[in-house]
Amino acid sequence: MSLIVQKFGGSSVKNAERILHVAETIAKTYWAGNNVIVVLSAQGDTTDELIDKAEEINPHPSKREMDMLLSTGEQISVALCAMALETLHIPCVSLAAWQVGIQSTSVHSAARIKRIDSERIRSELDQRRVVLVTGFQGVDRNGDVTTLGRGGSDTSAVALAAVFHADLCQIFTDVDGVYTTDPRIVPNARKLDEITYDEMLELASQGAQVLHNRSVELAKKFHVNLEVVSSLEDKPGTKVKEVTKVEKTNIAGVAKDTSIARVALVGLQHNPGVAFQVFDLLSRNNINVDVILQSIGRDETKDITFTVHKKDMEEAERILNDHKSALKFDHIEMDDKIGKVSIVGMGLMSNCGVAAKMFEALYEAGINIQMINTSEIRVSVLLDESDVNKAVKAIHDKFFDDI
Ligand code: ADP
Ligand code: ASP
Ligand code: MG
Repeated sequence: MSLIVQKFGGSSVKNAERILHVAETIAKTYWAGNNVIVVLSAQGDTTDELIDKAEEINPHPSKREMDMLLSTGEQISVALCAMALETLHIPCVSLAAWQVGIQSTSVHSAARIKRIDSERIRSELDQRRVVLVTGFQGVDRNGDVTTLGRGGSDTSAVALAAVFHADLCQIFTDVDGVYTTDPRIVPNARKLDEITYDEMLELASQGAQVLHNRSVELAKKFHVNLEVVSSLEDKPGTKVKEVTKVEKTNIAGVAKDTSIARVALVGLQHNPGVAFQVFDLLSRNNINVDVILQSIGRDETKDITFTVHKKDMEEAERILNDHKSALKFDHIEMDDKIGKVSIVGMGLMSNCGVAAKMFEALYEAGINIQMINTSEIRVSVLLDESDVNKAVKAIHDKFFDDI
């Protein structure tokens, strides 16, 4: 008997009709003789609506209370879906993360799963029940509910697949697979039959929200057999795996991220240890930094520019200003009207012309690049936010229109 983990995202469970459809998909898998663990997201825009509700009351609520609030969305979904399965006479049980024992770190709003207790789920599966688990949440060592970051239900699903050695982990969503770029921005984007974990990880980390980046990291680490499929149509999706068949000479895809802001520390002293002080301070405050650029001025001072998530921009400014006398900088400049566009592909490792082709596309579209950052299989550029969609289209056309 196989074990299959099936995760359904917010749009796939957005109303009663969709939940009943999801229940039918689960029932088919169950009656085919498989054990099934289901992971669900909150319905439709529930998480955003809960954030709005909180803001009406307190614009700066504590992260603990935010997690307490946001985790309720997923609980509604699993209970409703269990009720839908009851109508199909499928034995099932819905469980919140704290009932399963999905143990996480205590970093509210960005917790990481540390361990999953297996007894409860194992005993439910042994009784041939479908187990429905709330995505996106964990419980920390104090018993407090945590959340795993926006889009985190994918990670819950992959973590469960890893712990229970599932034969397959299916991520059902509102597109029928992973595309060469977001098909909602570029309608002629192409569906990929398969993609490597490494490429998918880079795309997800650079804003392709079709998979939560941490879920891909876990899938790679624990060799989870992962696929992205449509929750509406029964057709093959995209397999995410270690090695793909095709010899990659082109890029796998283009991603965009407009959730970032740029912070520049101007007039720092040009001494050893300055970068260490700045980034150590930010990391101790759980502020993640992405693209970093340092430039030296003629007057023996230097500027350090970096990007953070938009939501962290003001906190980064406050923390840095609180340490202004120790860090000895002149002033801080900030810009949250920027975006990042990235190309990703194994082909980048062996073909230096690929980056040039990207820059050529931007030049032809008349788009200015503010910063450039690369990894082994990725090139990212920082641009004005207003240029981002135009850049994605121009780059995508350049790489995919002529094949
Ligand atoms: P879910 O609610 O199922 O978790 P998400 O909204 O998180 O769904 O992710 C699916 C969305 O990801 C798609 O609707 C699509 O607009 C977007 N997306 C971004 N980049 C890509 C890509 N390369 N391939 C497919 N979808 C992408
Ligand atoms: N409901 C959460 C969100 O909207 C988690 C998820 O959908 O994966 O971010
Ligand atoms: Mg998602």
